[in-house]
Amino acid sequence: MLNQTCALCSEKLTDLNKTREHVIPHSIGGRLKVEGFICQSCNSRKGDSWDAELAAQFNWLALMIGVKRDRKLTPELVQTASGEKYFLHPTGSMTPAIFKYTEIQDSEKTKISFVGRTQKEVSKKVKEIVKRFPQLDSQDILSTAKVQTSYLDEPLQMTLEFGGPLAGRSIVKTALAFAFQSGINSESCKSALHFLKNEQAPSSCYGLSYLQDLIVNRPTDAAFHCVALHGSTTEKTLYAYVEYFGLARWLIVLSNEYYGSEMHQSYAINPTTGETIDIRLDWKLNRSEIEKTINGYGYSVEIYKAEVDLAFGILYGLSSKRSFDNALEVSLRTAAVSLGINADEDVSAERWKEVVALGMQEFQPFLIRYFKSRRGGH
Ligand SMILES: [Zn+2]
Repeated sequence: MLNQTCALCSEKLTDLNKTREHVIPHSIGGRLKVEGFICQSCNSRKGDSWDAELAAQFNWLALMIGVKRDRKLTPELVQTASGEKYFLHPTGSMTPAIFKYTEIQDSEKTKISFVGRTQKEVSKKVKEIVKRFPQLDSQDILSTAKVQTSYLDEPLQMTLEFGGPLAGRSIVKTALAFAFQSGINSESCKSALHFLKNEQAPSSCYGLSYLQDLIVNRPTDAAFHCVALHGSTTEKTLYAYVEYFGLARWLIVLSNEYYGSEMHQSYAINPTTGETIDIRLDWKLNRSEIEKTINGYGYSVEIYKAEVDLAFGILYGLSSKRSFDNALEVSLRTAAVSLGINADEDVSAERWKEVVALGMQEFQPFLIRYFKSRRGGH
């Protein structure tokens, strides 16, 4: 099926200007695409600015659990609860955001300590110090330097700010694209179209949805995104539900004048593997709950807190499993390098034992942290 005209600008759709649009933005791991939904120009102008804002809001989560994408993710500046700043990289590893330097002076001596983030940064600082204290020798200082691997032992401080005028339009566009993919003409989704087509329109067709958990078979060990539709012939309503990372949840009113058939569709994907997963919904919200939701009252503090805690438990679990795997791999690779083994070399069982023995020494500090933090009760 093809819309006759672009859902967003009403331009006639032809073979020349039709485009393939991601239903869920690719920046957060979406894969399913629709064709004949919007025109090329709307895809690259409006679509991109809306999706870019959404991507920015979710970038740290995407980095934390390792969303699978074609394009590379960009590092994100994050902060721990006590205010330490780090860069979170696409591999899930972190580097301090600022250079740390302390100088303590007492009557007889000056004690300097610093942590550089790269070899270059350390050498540069040592040069500066030797200039100020010519009696020191830079080689001596460098020989006492140690390479440190450290691990976070406090939670990251994150702002949960999802939505707003631009990202909100990305979410409603996703709902509309999925309706289109399910055979519903975009023209009939009047509430959603009014919001998407008018930049000044208030966000009266969607809202955060935490009054009840609509998902019946919520996974407890995987992150997922889902989009679902609920069309009722008796109520003449077409609703959509969008959930990202099992965390951010919205209800969208696509139409209050729905004359199509009963509709129950859902689509979900695991953004770390790219696999489609089976998600079923129970649309148990009544009319007044729907009203509350789109008017911005779709949550009670207790339910919101409990649901967000639950989602974070899963996301932190995935993130910590990922850093475990990474740390193990890095330890073994470092051990192999220091034993003079090349990456592609065939290694005897004896030699492999040596790598493992040395690798386990490297891995030990991580392992201790890891089990301590798990006993701490995540
Ligand atoms: Zn268009």
